[in-house]
Amino acid sequence: MSKKHTFQTEINQLLDLMIHSLYSHKEIFLRELISNASDALDKLNYLTLTDEKLKDLNFDPRIELSFDEKKKTLSIEDNGIGMNEKELTDNLGTIAKSGTKSFLSSLSGDKKKDSALIGQFGVGFYSAFMVADKVIVQSKKAGEDKAYAWVSDGKGEYEISVCKKDTQGTQITLYLKEEDANFASKWEIENIVKKYSEHIPFPIYLNYTQTNFEGEGEDKKEIKEDKKDRINTAKAIWKVSKNDLKDDDYKEFYKSFAHDNSEPMKWIHTKVEGTLEYSTLFFIPQVAPFDLYRVDYKSGVKLYVKRVFITDDDKELLPQYLRFIKGVIDSEDLPLNVSREILQQNKILANIRSASTKKILGEIQNITQDKEAYEKFYTQFGKVLKEGLYGDYENKDKILELLRFHTSTQKDMISLKEYKEKMPKDQKSIYYMIGENLDLLRASPILEKYTQKGYEVLLMADEVDGFVIPGIGEYDKTALKDANASQTLEELGAEKINEETRKSFENLIKSFKEVLGEEVKDITLSNSLNSPVALVGEEQNPMMANLMAQMGQNLPPQKKTMELNIHHPILEKLKDNSDKELLANTAHLLYDSAKLLESGSIQNAKDFANRLNDIILKTL
Ligand code: ADP
Ligand code: MG
Repeated sequence: MSKKHTFQTEINQLLDLMIHSLYSHKEIFLRELISNASDALDKLNYLTLTDEKLKDLNFDPRIELSFDEKKKTLSIEDNGIGMNEKELTDNLGTIAKSGTKSFLSSLSGDKKKDSALIGQFGVGFYSAFMVADKVIVQSKKAGEDKAYAWVSDGKGEYEISVCKKDTQGTQITLYLKEEDANFASKWEIENIVKKYSEHIPFPIYLNYTQTNFEGEGEDKKEIKEDKKDRINTAKAIWKVSKNDLKDDDYKEFYKSFAHDNSEPMKWIHTKVEGTLEYSTLFFIPQVAPFDLYRVDYKSGVKLYVKRVFITDDDKELLPQYLRFIKGVIDSEDLPLNVSREILQQNKILANIRSASTKKILGEIQNITQDKEAYEKFYTQFGKVLKEGLYGDYENKDKILELLRFHTSTQKDMISLKEYKEKMPKDQKSIYYMIGENLDLLRASPILEKYTQKGYEVLLMADEVDGFVIPGIGEYDKTALKDANASQTLEELGAEKINEETRKSFENLIKSFKEVLGEEVKDITLSNSLNSPVALVGEEQNPMMANLMAQMGQNLPPQKKTMELNIHHPILEKLKDNSDKELLANTAHLLYDSAKLLESGSIQNAKDFANRLNDIILKTL
C-alpha cells in the first residue's frame, strides 16, 4: 500500500526550477546528497555516544556510492540516522525552514549564480532533480523497525510506501535523465567527490565492476570483478597540522563546507594546547551570505567535541557581529553529552569564543595592510562589524581600529587613526555627523563651521550608525562628538557678535519666533555660516526618528535652535522689513529649506510650494 502526497506549492516552484532552469554546475547535486549523508552520520554518531537506547549500536559510519551504466542509475547510501514516515514527508515534501522561500526570492535569473545558491539555502536534496527524472529514497530510522520508500518524478507528487531495508540509514537512487547519464561513471563520480567532498569527515566508498581479460586470442575471456574503492581521505582537516596542508586543501574544504563555489577570502587555522585543548578553522567568505541581516540567519560555525559533531545552530559560538564567519570549533575538553541549552553558560566555550574573537579581529586587522583587499572586505562586512561596538565592549578598541569612514574633505574612506594624524593642533575632539545619506550630509550648513577652521568631520549614513556611534565616547583618548550638538558647536568658539548687531536683529527674531512658535527651541544669531540659516540641536538624530517611524512609532519631535546668519543678504535685508506676510512666509521657507537640507524631506510640502509661489510672484 502506498500513500500519495502532493508537494507544497513552494517545493513545486523549486522543483520546476531544478528541472527546467538550473543547468550550470549540475554536478553539485552529488555534493548536496553526500553532505546530507554526512549530516545524517553526524547525528547518529552523536546519539550513539549520548543516547542510552543507541549506545549498543554497532556503528561504522560510511557513505557508499554505486552506479549502473546500463540502467543509468546512481545511488548514494549512508548508515546514518535515517528517516521515518513522518520525517520523509516533513523533510522531503514541505518546507520546514524559511530556506526555500528566501531561495526563490533571491534568484537573480542568472543561472550560474542561481545554482550556486542551492546549497546555501538548505534546499540541497531537491537538486537531485536537476539530473534525475525519478528519485527513490529508502530509509530506516535508527532504533525503529519499519523502513519506508519515498518515490517521485518531481512533478507535483510523491508516494510513500513500506519497504524492506535491513540496516538503519538512507539510500537514495537517482534514475538519471538521458542527457545526464554521464554521471553514472566511475571517472565522473571520483572527480566530483575529489572536487567537492574530499574532506567530508566520513569515508566514502565507490562500488563498481571491473572487467578483466584472461587468456590470448581465441581463449580470451572476460571476467567481471566487483570492486570497492575508498575515494576520499576523510580527514577532519581542522585537526591536521598546518604544515601538512596546502592552500588548495583549505579552499576545497571551504567550498564543500560552506556550499560556496567561490574561494574564501581568508582562513584562520588555530590549534591550542595547554589548559584548554581545541582546534578552530575559520573562513571569511568573499561575499556576505544572503541572510546576513535577517533575524533567522543561519549560523556559519559548527561545534564539534573530539571530532563528533554537536551542533550547527548555536548562534553564540561567536559574537553576532562575526556571523559572516564560517568554520569549525572542535574542543577536547567539553563533555560529549553537553546539552545544547547549557552550552551558552559553559566556561570552556566562553573561553574559546573569547580567544577566537580576538584571533579573528587580529587577522582582519592584518588585511588592512593591503588597502585594496581591505576595501573588498569592508564593503561586504564593514557594516556588520560596527554592531560589535555596542555588543562587545571588551573588543571595542580593536573594532574601532577596523572601521573606515567617509569624511567632509576626502574622497577615500579613512580610519580613526588617520583622522587623528591629520588633526590640526587646536582641534580638541573628533567630530562626526550622522544623517540619512552622504549627499545630504555633505550639503549640511553645519559643516561650514568646521571646514572654516580646517577641521574634518566624519560623515555617517549607515543604519546602525545612529545606534552605535554616539555610544563610542572616545578613541585613543580623544572624544568623539556629534558635530551638530550645541555643546560641540560651542567648543568651536565662534567669534562674539557685538551688541549693536544683536539689537538690529531683535525685531526679526521676535517676528520669526511668533511665526515658527513651537517648531523651534530658540532662534539665535551666528556669524560662522555660509547659508542663511542652520538648525542645530542636542544629539539629534534624524535617522533614529526615521527608523522608529518605520516601526510605527513616533519619537517626540526634537526641537532645534535656528541660527540666523548675520552676514547673509537675505537676513540683512529682512531685518528692517515690516511686511508681516512676507516675514511669515520667509520664516517658514527658511526653516523648511534648512529641514530639507538636513533630512531630505519636510512635513508639509504643499505649504512650502505655496509660500514659494507667493514670493516668486512678488518679485516678478
Ligand atoms: P538541508 O540539508 O540544508 O537541511 P536538504 O534539502 O539538503 O536541506 O535536506 C532536507 C532535509 O532532509 C535534511 O535537513 C534532513 O532532515 C533530511 N535528509 C536529507 N537527506 C537525508 C539523509 N541521507 N539522511 C537523513 N535525513 C536526510
Ligand atoms: Mg543538505
